[in-house]
Amino acid sequence: MSENLNPFAIAQAQFDESAAVLQLDPDMHAFLRQPMREFHFTIPVHMDDGSVKSFQGFRVQYNDARGPAKGGVRFHPDETIDTVRALSAWMTWKTAVADIPLGGAKGGVICNPREMSQNELQRLSRGYMRNISRFVGLTQDVPAPDVHTNPQIMAWMLDEYEVLSGHREPGVITGKPLSLGGSAGRTPATAMGGVVTIRETAKLLGMELNGATCAIQGYGNVGSYAHQLAHDLFGIKVVAVSDEFGGIYSADGLDPVVVAQHLRATGKVGGCPGSEEISNSALLELDVAILVPAAIENQITGQNADHIKAQIIAELANGPTTPDADEILNAKGVYIIPDFLCNAGGVTVSYFEMVQNAYQYYWDEALVQSRLDQKITTAFHAVHNMAQARQVPNRVAAYLVAVSRVAEAVRLRGWV
Ligand code: NAD
Repeated sequence: MSENLNPFAIAQAQFDESAAVLQLDPDMHAFLRQPMREFHFTIPVHMDDGSVKSFQGFRVQYNDARGPAKGGVRFHPDETIDTVRALSAWMTWKTAVADIPLGGAKGGVICNPREMSQNELQRLSRGYMRNISRFVGLTQDVPAPDVHTNPQIMAWMLDEYEVLSGHREPGVITGKPLSLGGSAGRTPATAMGGVVTIRETAKLLGMELNGATCAIQGYGNVGSYAHQLAHDLFGIKVVAVSDEFGGIYSADGLDPVVVAQHLRATGKVGGCPGSEEISNSALLELDVAILVPAAIENQITGQNADHIKAQIIAELANGPTTPDADEILNAKGVYIIPDFLCNAGGVTVSYFEMVQNAYQYYWDEALVQSRLDQKITTAFHAVHNMAQARQVPNRVAAYLVAVSRVAEAVRLRGWV
């Protein structure tokens, strides 16, 4: 039978497995396996050619028991409500595992930003904020950038919110440009958190990171910084990287500066000097110590999991591994750093951004990084210790830590 690759079905299956291990009360189980609130809306946008195009937008507030909901907004042609639901669930578990006082949310618009002008994107971003403005805010729900949204888009959304509310409230959105109250260190934060988890894993496994081989799928914000940080901080030898057009390989290791220059010049990693071509599927199956999926969902499945040779999989992407693949990889003894732990660095620094906005006092990058390192290291060991204590895979352990914390807040509030 073929696997169900619907991301929300996968998120629910993962949650169900953990709820069973936790022996979660059935009423709590039923409450936590669905989003608390969803907003579906149509955004009319005046296009440059004079036509009006209607875009479908979503905001899902999965759970806000531990604090205001928090999560990015994606602009993507293949966006679906189930993808947004899944990502909002993972945000809930992510903020809980990182132990920051926030809940989980996610948003999305079905659109192709590559085919839109900057003016059209601005009108879409403002239209998105107009639709959700009554339901977001410092104490309700705080959006952020995600796939194909960026600091400029956050700036337009912030401005629209402040025009509507009539006052300045920078903490209503994170991932802003620095000059509008963004945090130092936000852009590399997700990758930084990921390499901290790789460092801690290597210590546990007794793996020498200097010279250890690594392959990275996806070379956007997360993948490109993962390459640079892994190379610069630990001397990890990244032998392959890829983007949606294909991958590149060099047995001697790829220099992040050279790849970044080539990407800037050509728009893709393919053809980078000193490298040979490799397909995305072959990259995943390379004989490397560390595999970093940093692109999209459902890349490691029941079809290819048996061919994976890496000892560590650091899931910087959300949902890169399916439940069928998990079963195969766990049986092989691969050390998986599960997504909502591995990529929690981004939301952690978003939380730091909210704190700095509230105080109107800003930290330098070194302070942001040291506090990020501390938070992620603590979260990593909470999950590892849970896995050891309960003899469960890391993903289940991450759920056990996160779900217990969210369930406790729900219980204390008297909701269930
Ligand atoms: P991005 O849009 O900047 O980059 C995505 C990269 O993946 C691009 O290089 C793109 O070409 C590549 N890609 C797309 N489809 C692919 C495919 N089929 N095969 C191989 N490569 C493909 O996005 P990002 O911000 O780097 O996010 C990457 C992943 O990390 C996503 O799963 C995202 O949800 C997750 N994530 C991002 C953040 C963040 O702070 N940006 C935080 C947490 C999780």
